[in-house]
Amino acid sequence: MEIIGDLRVMMSSDKILKEDKLHIFLLGSGGPINNKLRVAPSIAVIAGGEFILVDVGPGSYRNVEVLRLPVAHLSGIFLTHFHSDHIGDLGEANVMSWANGRTKALEIFGPKGIDKVVNGFIMAYELDKEYRFAHHGEDVVSLEAGTPISKVISFQDPNEKELIFDRNGLKVYAFEVDHSPVKPAVGYRIEFKGNTIVITGDTIKTENLVKHSNNADILFSEAISFDMLNIVIAGAAKRNLTRLVKILTDIQEYHMELVEAAELAKEADVKKLVYVHITPPLPNKMAEKVYLKGVSEVYNGDFIIGDDNMKFRLDPKE
Ligand SMILES: [Zn+2]
Ligand SMILES: [Zn+2]
Repeated sequence: MEIIGDLRVMMSSDKILKEDKLHIFLLGSGGPINNKLRVAPSIAVIAGGEFILVDVGPGSYRNVEVLRLPVAHLSGIFLTHFHSDHIGDLGEANVMSWANGRTKALEIFGPKGIDKVVNGFIMAYELDKEYRFAHHGEDVVSLEAGTPISKVISFQDPNEKELIFDRNGLKVYAFEVDHSPVKPAVGYRIEFKGNTIVITGDTIKTENLVKHSNNADILFSEAISFDMLNIVIAGAAKRNLTRLVKILTDIQEYHMELVEAAELAKEADVKKLVYVHITPPLPNKMAEKVYLKGVSEVYNGDFIIGDDNMKFRLDPKE
């Protein structure tokens, strides 16, 4: 196999854009605690010639290029909320898809506050944009396509989902979740030709979440093992790591416990449950087993622990 000089490793594959399937790539399956096994949250969806990302946590954009996804065709980024583990690679995703041939401005969707986040990234990357333009010129990097556009999501009725993207059969709905004090925060329901995936974002279990996860083919649910976290907390308390104890205790108030996520999957009649935002990190198979404790007693559908670069493909039903 030719490695040096093999251009394939540097080129994205556009073939996938023409396939009549719903493709999902789990780019980042980790949570906010950095570890060598998983990067922070991000999911790529490709269908009907459209390519979107949901969240762009630190380190996740790298996997877009590792998987050779068609970056020049990236048309939208959907943020669930603005914690750093969900937005850290926003600048990278915008600049690198632009430098690699994107010719239209990237639309970045998110709840109230999105313009502040997007404008901050625009300012932070302004000089980089000028350098690249000066170096390569308008024919290679169009100035207009380099500046992203923020799109704010608002709800007429907080209990209903809102259609915010509808192109070539790919529909993205946003719905409100509860990640208080992070307000507002949203989850996404994505549909293509009879298939549905739901991405919870960070949230506790709510009625609205159950309602909008209804009948999903795949539910990508955040999940924290409170049991495992409490073991970490006990260890930290013994060493007088009071700051860590406080933070790890606090996060249990605004995240979902993984058996609760299994209850959500059951109540919403979800076909497959994929755990993401894995917290705490799971260093080995034994830890994975402990992590999943209690899930099969609640939910009898298919469930798995998500891994970085896991791929899913759904054939059209209609
Ligand atoms: Zn969060
Ligand atoms: Zn998070």
